[in-house]
Amino acid sequence: MTRFVLLLFSSLLLLPSAWAASFNTVVIDAGHGGFDRGGIPQNLIPEKNVALDVAQRVSRRLQNAGLRTVMTRNSDVFVTLSQRVAIANAQKRAIFVSIHFNSALRPGACGIETYYCRSASARQLAVLIQRNCMRTTNGENRGTKTANYYVLRKNKLTAVLVECGFLTNRADVSRATSKEYRESLAAQIANAILAFR
Ligand code: ZN
Repeated sequence: MTRFVLLLFSSLLLLPSAWAASFNTVVIDAGHGGFDRGGIPQNLIPEKNVALDVAQRVSRRLQNAGLRTVMTRNSDVFVTLSQRVAIANAQKRAIFVSIHFNSALRPGACGIETYYCRSASARQLAVLIQRNCMRTTNGENRGTKTANYYVLRKNKLTAVLVECGFLTNRADVSRATSKEYRESLAAQIANAILAFR
């Protein structure tokens, strides 16, 4: 019995969600930048600018809520994937949220999806972000998915990547080019992070 209780206790200590709940820092990773515009040639607008804008809005909102934020980039510069991960892995008591917009050869592809890699706590965070972001759009709810993206796979933090809409789709682009829309998207992402905490 005692051994069972000890085992139970030690496995509870190792629960990723219990650990993740103690974070006070959010690493916010705006996709692409500099010569890397993001997306594909069919993009109606480049990805790098709207990704950075949403990331900065998320950062401001989290700071206002008392969290510390670290941006992997805060201007239109190129940052390698390994630099992004190195910035993340240098943080303590932190989580990692990467912000991208999607693209597809099929112009009808639209909506939002959120990726995570392996950990149960990352899945939990992805579910919250996906649920909240879908409140901003009538585009397709593409759900949460696992992916072996470098910035997720090499990350020691609880790490997710949100694809905030397709820049190859007219309806998603008209949302993404609206400052009000990007602010409401950022509010939903920030609220999801605060709910996760
Ligand atoms: Zn991207």
